Amino acid sequence: MGTVEDEIKPLGEASSQTAIEQLLPFERLLSEISAGLILASPATVQQHLRAGLRRLAEFFDVDRTVLWEQSADHQELLERESYTRPGTRLDLREGPARMNLPWWRLRMLRGELIRFSTLTDLPPEASHVRAFAERVGLRSYLSVPISIQSKHRHHLVLASFRQERVWPDALIPRLRLLGEMFAGALERVRIEQALRQSELRYREVFELTSDCIFLLDVTPDLRFVVTRFNPAEEQTVGLYGVEGRFLDELLPQSLTRTLYANFRRCIESGASFSYEEALPLPIGVRYFHTTLIPVKDATGRTHRIVGIAHHITERVEAEQTAHLLADASRILAESLDYQTTLAQVARLAVPVLADWCVVDILEHGTCHRIAGAHVDPSKELLLQVLAERYPVDAVASQPASQVLRTGQALLLANTPEDVLRAHTRDAAHATLIRMLGCLSLMAVPLMARGRMLGVLTLVSSQPGRHYGPTALHHAQDLAHRIGLALDNARLYREAQESIRLRDEFLSIASHELRTPITSLNLATQALLDPQLQPSPEKLHRTLRLVRRQIDRLTRLIEEILTVSRIQGEHLELHREEVDLISVVRAVVARLEGDLARAGCELQLRLDTAGPVIGRWDRSRLDEVVTNLLTNAIKFGAGKLITLELEAVGDVARLIVSDRGIGIAPERLPHIFERFERAVSSKHYGGLGLGLYIVREIVEALGGSVRAESYLGFGSTFTVELPLRPWEQAGPHHADVH
Ligand code: ADP
Repeated sequence: MGTVEDEIKPLGEASSQTAIEQLLPFERLLSEISAGLILASPATVQQHLRAGLRRLAEFFDVDRTVLWEQSADHQELLERESYTRPGTRLDLREGPARMNLPWWRLRMLRGELIRFSTLTDLPPEASHVRAFAERVGLRSYLSVPISIQSKHRHHLVLASFRQERVWPDALIPRLRLLGEMFAGALERVRIEQALRQSELRYREVFELTSDCIFLLDVTPDLRFVVTRFNPAEEQTVGLYGVEGRFLDELLPQSLTRTLYANFRRCIESGASFSYEEALPLPIGVRYFHTTLIPVKDATGRTHRIVGIAHHITERVEAEQTAHLLADASRILAESLDYQTTLAQVARLAVPVLADWCVVDILEHGTCHRIAGAHVDPSKELLLQVLAERYPVDAVASQPASQVLRTGQALLLANTPEDVLRAHTRDAAHATLIRMLGCLSLMAVPLMARGRMLGVLTLVSSQPGRHYGPTALHHAQDLAHRIGLALDNARLYREAQESIRLRDEFLSIASHELRTPITSLNLATQALLDPQLQPSPEKLHRTLRLVRRQIDRLTRLIEEILTVSRIQGEHLELHREEVDLISVVRAVVARLEGDLARAGCELQLRLDTAGPVIGRWDRSRLDEVVTNLLTNAIKFGAGKLITLELEAVGDVARLIVSDRGIGIAPERLPHIFERFERAVSSKHYGGLGLGLYIVREIVEALGGSVRAESYLGFGSTFTVELPLRPWEQAGPHHADVH
């Protein structure tokens, strides 16, 4: 029985048997090779191809089998795989792939069949092919063009070197089939490679992009399963290992309600759409510009949604901060009542800059919590507890205290246990802070014109919000605006206060001036009354009264004049050698009558051997002693007054003490200020200028004055003057000689 092998008989043994059943062994070979190729993995296809070509050569007993492939531009021929029977003498430096065989090459590139059983079959124009074949010993040749998807790109070649062969027509389609299998397998490898490449590229985009990409499968009951979720998304939203899970199982209902509304809109419209959204995620609020793309199945149903969410939190937060700062400035400028405005500003700062914040203001050396706000209103009570239990002062360990001490902003990007412990006073304090929530913190000084006015503390409790330089910059900007507002409010308060004091002064001054004038009026009227004939004693008494009232008027006017000179910086000092003892004695002598009338005993203690001499201004010192002594008489409640004078080292010290009404502690720091009075004008006269004048004069002479007083127990005023003031030129010297 004939076989295909019989078909490719050596020339001269040609047979006419071409029946299909004779091709059976070849069919078996074909199916074996094709099964091997189909099952081959991309990595082993080449190996299968090589084995297939070997088996083909062995089956037909030819010397060489080759699978050629054209390059993508159809200009080159590339040997994809070949088999050469061992022992075949083959010079491959030449061949159809080489440029010097145009007849051959052209036919192959055109996808034509080439067949010669003997070299004589070659047409005359292929003489160089013949020459080549003779040179290399090629006797018979068959090249079958293979087309895949109607493109000729391959050739399956059988070449015989040992003998001439017949290549019957019936063989061609079978070889073509085999060639198609070879080429198909190669194509499959190529496609798989291309797929892998594209998958790789897609993976790179998917995994490396900073945008969030997610794929959601839509269930028939309109729930959404996360099928893909890129790493950027995991980081940005703080959700990990979510693939394969329902969104509504991963996120709170408040969140899925908004998300699902947009997904449904995408499904209903069947079209892509973009929008901006704020998502309150467990790690904090995140802002996105999101595009949803519906993916439809064959029935037109949207079975999947592709989402691309561009993270815009930074941009949105920058915008929000800019708005916050503008709003804060507007609110702070609207009113000078900073208690109210700061409460509003604290509320604005939450949640844009912080989850909770507090403002502490420094007033008269103590810090007061003036405002506090928490993103969770239920925790505002805790803020109050914090303010009451742990007030800010300059010695404590809490951040605001540190800022008060150093004047520098403090940034705690993270607050692990040890950091929190270092910035709290005790365990209960740390617990309170943890309850309020504290993962990151900033405390910034509120300053204006170089003065520390308070501290603004901003705290984040969101895992996704850790403060850094940008946030600190924003906090400082806000603090700067608050500082300015506080300074304005203070200036305004001071202006109001000085207006009030001035008005009060005017009314008191007119009253003070009117009293002696009334008394003078009455006295002189009595003297001038022709009906009354005053006795010489009565006349003398009245004249003494007139004298006293004139003295009083003169003192008042002197006081006002001195103050106006001090204000105009014209307090002239006439320095000369002055014995303070003689000044004291002169004043005491002058005020003897007042002392007696007030029922005060004066004890003079002049603890010094000789005179106490300095280069001072006699009349100004007289004013100082007079003011202190008249105050002691006025407020001395008729009790003992002591006046001590001593010279210690380079200092002359004058101490005036009384056991009178004393001064309330809150008034004490202010009594040396202009127009300051610590008593009601109903009970005590005086312009509130005496002590102001005392301080101005003493300081102009290079000295100092201080007061010590206990309400109901009396007051002590101590004046210290340098005995050699010329050696201590200071800024207060308005020395005129
Ligand atoms: P005035 O002329 O009104 O006495 P001063 O400047 O001398 O003004 O004193 C300011 C205020 O200080 C007084 O109004 C009074 O309340 C308080 N003060 C001054 N000296 C004494 C004192 N010795 N005892 C009690 N209070 C005093």
